[in-house]
Amino acid sequence: MPKMRAVQVARPKGPFEIVEREIPEPGPGSVRLKVQACGVCHSDSITKEGTFPWVQYPRVPGHEVVGVVDAVGAGVAQWTPGQRAGVGWHGGNCGYCNSCRRGNFFACETLTAITGITYDGGYADYMIARSEALALVPPELSAAEAAPLMCAGVTTFNCLRNAGAQPGELVAVLGLGGLGHLGVQFAVKAGYRTVAIARGQDKEPLARQLGAWHYIDSQSQDPAAELKKLGGAKVILATVTNGDAMAAVIGGLGIDGKLMIIGAAAPFSISPIQLLTSRQGLRGWYSGTSIDSQDTLAFSVLTGVRSMNEMFPLERVNDAYERMTSGKARFRAVLTIS
Ligand SMILES: [Zn+2]
Ligand SMILES: [Zn+2]
Repeated sequence: MPKMRAVQVARPKGPFEIVEREIPEPGPGSVRLKVQACGVCHSDSITKEGTFPWVQYPRVPGHEVVGVVDAVGAGVAQWTPGQRAGVGWHGGNCGYCNSCRRGNFFACETLTAITGITYDGGYADYMIARSEALALVPPELSAAEAAPLMCAGVTTFNCLRNAGAQPGELVAVLGLGGLGHLGVQFAVKAGYRTVAIARGQDKEPLARQLGAWHYIDSQSQDPAAELKKLGGAKVILATVTNGDAMAAVIGGLGIDGKLMIIGAAAPFSISPIQLLTSRQGLRGWYSGTSIDSQDTLAFSVLTGVRSMNEMFPLERVNDAYERMTSGKARFRAVLTIS
């Protein structure tokens, strides 16, 4: 049997192990991807650290996967070998449960398919994906360019486009890391008056380079007061993982403003009085399904939005993961696989 390399985690908090496995065959409704690149996302720590008690081990992480369709299982109408495709967090949906029948595929009630968490992901030469979870990757993007767009990209882009701001309105992006550096670019290209908020004056040149119209240093300034001076934000895209940092910007929302939460932060407190007097809201956002990823890729080609990546060969998975978890990666770590 032909073999492949895979990076597995054998138990919660266990090390990454580079092992040899048989190349898997796609079952009905699935395809096999020959993986070209896979981004390292903060959520890969769920598999690595055992955050969810129901994850089964050993497990291969990775949900920012781009590759080439290499084999197609029975009953797959829409994919043929040789096509470039990517898969993100959303690993598929049944199509017949009540949520799916309402178009809420992300909330499928019968299938918990999360790439690299409930089934093996892209830290490997090959992986199996359900056909409905695949996004077509346009030829203008290299595998390493497309990979981070499959989670960090779709999460920020799809959240922004569903947040309700109109072109020209004030949109703030809280955080300038892996998510935030994409969020600022998407907000700029979508035509919003884009404000970047981060800690320290040293981040301002980056914010400007990404196209931000205004920069707020949340260490030396009160971000809520500064946003108010600018008229109040219609949307604040909260990409950070710090609840207190989110709480500190809510006061900068304008009338009908919304804090859109995509960073997995700890609980924080809010003032209901402020929300009700200015008709403001808080909303969480799920990254998206395969068509949302495909839209993200197409928009990125159209407008030139790109992730800034640090590249690592598969063998250096420990270094890539360490860069990501330490917050030192500028700005996404990507494993190059073939
Ligand atoms: Zn992710
Ligand atoms: Zn379903």
